[in-house]
Amino acid sequence: MSHLFYQGRGRKPVLDQARGVYMWDKDGKRYLDGSSGAMVCNIGHSNPNVLAAMQRQMEKSTFGYRLHFETEASEKLASKLAALAPGGLDKVFFVSGGSEAVESALKLARQYMNATGQGSRWKVISRQPSYHGSTLGALAVTGYTPLSAPFEPMLRQMPKIPAPRAYLDGRDPRDPASGHHYANMLASAIEAEGPETVAAFIVEPVGGASTGALVPPAGYMERIREICDRYGILMIADEVMTGAGRTGRFLGSDHWNARPDIIVMSKGLGAGYVPLGAMIADARLVEPVLDAGGFAHGYTYAGNPLACAAGLAVVEEIEGQALCANADRMGERLLARLRGLMQKHEVIGDVRGMGLLTAFELMSDRDSKAPLPKGLNAYQRLVDIAYDKGLIVYSRRTRDGIEGDHILVCPPLIVTDDHLDEIIEGLDAALSQFADEIAG
Ligand code: PLP
Repeated sequence: MSHLFYQGRGRKPVLDQARGVYMWDKDGKRYLDGSSGAMVCNIGHSNPNVLAAMQRQMEKSTFGYRLHFETEASEKLASKLAALAPGGLDKVFFVSGGSEAVESALKLARQYMNATGQGSRWKVISRQPSYHGSTLGALAVTGYTPLSAPFEPMLRQMPKIPAPRAYLDGRDPRDPASGHHYANMLASAIEAEGPETVAAFIVEPVGGASTGALVPPAGYMERIREICDRYGILMIADEVMTGAGRTGRFLGSDHWNARPDIIVMSKGLGAGYVPLGAMIADARLVEPVLDAGGFAHGYTYAGNPLACAAGLAVVEEIEGQALCANADRMGERLLARLRGLMQKHEVIGDVRGMGLLTAFELMSDRDSKAPLPKGLNAYQRLVDIAYDKGLIVYSRRTRDGIEGDHILVCPPLIVTDDHLDEIIEGLDAALSQFADEIAG
């Protein structure tokens, strides 16, 4: 009997080893990690340079409390992130995960408003669907009903605008009119709430688990930036999933001329070696907060030297192996191969993504975009079939988290063409078996 529990009771095989893009369970079965865990292990498993950097740090010190010491590791990683972030975003606050990073950004936005005489501003507008984390603050901006509904009495729900799902609404995502159409919903929401009450807007540059690699339509991010400026509200980019090279640039925000005021990262920064996250903020926001008495927020493990040494080595691997360029190149190829699968398998209704953040959505009818019947639990079934065949992919309900099914295909950024062949073969076989099951 296991004493563990997570979201459910289901028992998984016990992990034994992981190297590069492969993982092995205790029975010796090999899996190709086609989702980098949960879009985490961007540089692949067991990278020797990261392990060596961790070993070196462990031999020096594993903990130094932030109120007692700075550490070389945290200073160096902060400088590295400040250099990689857009100009002006050069203040770094370390945390241990994505939800903590989002919480930090929400609080910094609020404290900045307090510190600058705008104390009536506290609301943070977000999108539906979206995922920003599971702690209560992050959940308040998360647009994913199954996760928030049980906690409704404990939450202060924040206003939501629809995510820009042009493919569902019959709009052309390449037409800037589509981007403007969805971005203008932010202006309407700010007006409806009262601009003097709104502190920030939080957005995943490319949608993650909630929308399944949703790339914003042309013109969207730039118009969002314009609207934030017009109303004096902060733009927070949730790059927990898109950061650390996943979309083919170091940050997802790098794809657009729409510089955020705050960026939060996690997953690919620690890359599965350590729990690590970071908030990177414009000094213009941080200085008034520090002048007004300090940032009223913090975690015991913030800036942990082992975590920062690992994070620094991870970023050096991303740079040294030119993994952003590889994600860009292999992502194009993966999207083309997924479109090939769409021609063969009618159940695929849409293929989308950027870099190696790619997904396909299952539908019962491509023209009407009707989802598969909810009872099929297609998102889970397809993942289970692929898992049995030794391919790990990641799935979620889409469409506000209640219906619809998408599968995220997000291998480590070190993938080669041979790995892509293996992923596509595994998905092809899984989709055929799934089609047989629903036909029979
Ligand atoms: N924000 C985004 C965009 C995410 O994808 C996630 C996790 O999936 C989070 C926040 C929360 O991160 P964590 O699970 O590390 O708390």
